[in-house]
Amino acid sequence: MKAHPTIGVLAVQGDVREHLRALESAGADAIAVRRPSEVEAIDGLVIPGGESTTMDKLCRIFELRDPLVERLRAGMPAYGSCAGMIMLADRILDGHRDQQTLGGLDITVRRNAFGRQVHSFEDDLRIRELGPEPVRAVFIRAPWVEEVGEGVQVLASVHVGGADHPVAVRQGNLLATSFHPEVTGDHRVHAFFADVVRRA
Ligand code: GLN
Repeated sequence: MKAHPTIGVLAVQGDVREHLRALESAGADAIAVRRPSEVEAIDGLVIPGGESTTMDKLCRIFELRDPLVERLRAGMPAYGSCAGMIMLADRILDGHRDQQTLGGLDITVRRNAFGRQVHSFEDDLRIRELGPEPVRAVFIRAPWVEEVGEGVQVLASVHVGGADHPVAVRQGNLLATSFHPEVTGDHRVHAFFADVVRRA
């Protein structure tokens, strides 16, 4: 088990720096990933928030898509936040017509699920895996999980419009949150993911 695994942050678009900092504080060696050779060098990957349609296009232009898909299929641990959750999802609702994801997580996500008028909001979530203290969850034009496959564990949900919508899920080495833990200074999600990478 590597004490300091190398964890990449996909750095084509989005809030990369905050994730690099959070990963470093979780004991990982964090690197920005912009080239196929960097995809080979990492033990795990974080896909940040941003805009999933742009990230999808840039991954294809920078020739990162195929190596990323290959490593994800081979079991590389990955954590996606917000747009990153969309990138890891097998299925999208309300995506652009030609939008592709990297996939791996057996979930259906709905983009901008909380509605246009709700640009952003915050909530306190209890996530048992992260301890008794609630997690301050910041949602920014966030997706939610509409459907989960059998192997997917729901870690947290938000109650909206009379229904529970999952906003944090795990399937083996893949983890995704609709919210942005990198902006709050609470690095428990990153620490949890770094442990997933150490054990992988
Ligand atoms: N709405 C964005 C998308 O569809 C995600 C927003 C975010 O990552 N903060 O990609």
